[in-house]
Amino acid sequence: MYDLSSQVALITGSARGIGRRIAEALAANGAKVVIADLFEEQVQSCVDQLRSSGCDATGVTVNVTQVEAVRAAIQTANEKLGRIDILVNNAGITRDNLLLRMKDEEWRQVLATNLDGVFFVTREVLPTMLKQRHGRVINIASVVGEMGNPGQANYAASKAGLIGFTKALAREVASRDITVNAVAPGYIETEMTAKLSEKARQELQNMIPMKRIGNVDDVSSGVCFLASKEAGYITGHVLNINGGMYM
Ligand code: NDP
Repeated sequence: MYDLSSQVALITGSARGIGRRIAEALAANGAKVVIADLFEEQVQSCVDQLRSSGCDATGVTVNVTQVEAVRAAIQTANEKLGRIDILVNNAGITRDNLLLRMKDEEWRQVLATNLDGVFFVTREVLPTMLKQRHGRVINIASVVGEMGNPGQANYAASKAGLIGFTKALAREVASRDITVNAVAPGYIETEMTAKLSEKARQELQNMIPMKRIGNVDDVSSGVCFLASKEAGYITGHVLNINGGMYM
């Protein structure tokens, strides 16, 4: 456990999946969490569940690809909570296709969510962190951004771009006690991997030195560490959480 009490954490794309688990884990370590996601109903249901288990949670509805919506959402979060100490840029999508068949829309949608979205949200949160002279930005990248994957040129480009973004920003804001790191998960048990056939799952596991697919707790524990004061001298780092699949 880490002591994140008195810390406010905003997590994008946190109404479900990995983002939700990150929000639950940060809250379990004492942080006040802001659930930021696309749809009001899902955001509210996630906030209600967190509150019913004793966590301090609030919600904002936002589409990270829309700069005005991001501005309004971050303003709302700042007004409600007065500070933002931890930003987890988790919202991300895939639109897989082989490059020769890839439609402009598939390219643009992935870049818009996975890169423009991170730029808009981080630019909006940063003034608060600069004023506080403290902050933690944690970007959820992917092993695919490091090693590539056929059928995912758009996604790989976005996640590799996110790693470059992480390192550049880390250098910009280090002197203000703001750390900027990336977490690069490998294959994680989600709705997507749950649908794999036994054969496909076996093949996937054989590619992973630890011989298992990761889970959302593997990712959230890395994020909690990077958010903690114990990680205060770590910046510009890419934390691989992939069972040794890429090193
Ligand atoms: P999910 O699709 O389960 O969850 C993503 C969340 O982000 C959803 O709640 C989704 O909302 C929300 N979201 C999507 N677009 C936007 C947007 N424009 N604005 C705000 N919120 C948005 O994804 P995962 O939990 O699997 O992945 C989370 C992150 O982890 C992503 O960045 C992904 O690239 C990364 N990752 C995932 C891996 C995996 O194996 N699952 C492996 C490596 C990295 P809605 O449900 O309404 O669409």
